[in-house]
Amino acid sequence: MLGEIEMANYEGTCRYCGEIQPVLAVDQMEADVRISEKCSCGGHRREKRHTAMEDNIQAMFGAGCDGTLFKAVTEEQMDLINAAGGAVFEGHAASVSIGLGKTAAKLSITAKGNVKVERSFGAKIQMES
Ligand SMILES: [Zn+2]
Repeated sequence: MLGEIEMANYEGTCRYCGEIQPVLAVDQMEADVRISEKCSCGGHRREKRHTAMEDNIQAMFGAGCDGTLFKAVTEEQMDLINAAGGAVFEGHAASVSIGLGKTAAKLSITAKGNVKVERSFGAKIQMES
């Protein structure tokens, strides 16, 4: 029948941990994707969380923040922020703060295990006589 998709039993391999499980799919590639997404190792969820963190960093420090109080940082600074986020995500540091002129970036892990991305704008007034 036209438009009908032929499904068959495949052995899908999780691309995060390598576990092999049987799955109904149209081809080997789809089988691998399906197993990777539902595998109990949590690799898929972890990757989604990592992507979400990078999206947050991009939104707060990238071109999208122009026109707000903040300006986009340079590519080198963005690399630094992403590396700091990666270190926090991997558990190498509980928090990392980076001074960027008038603004600062802080990446930290919350009690729930999420990566919190903060950007602050430092203003200070001081007098001396
Ligand atoms: Zn897995």
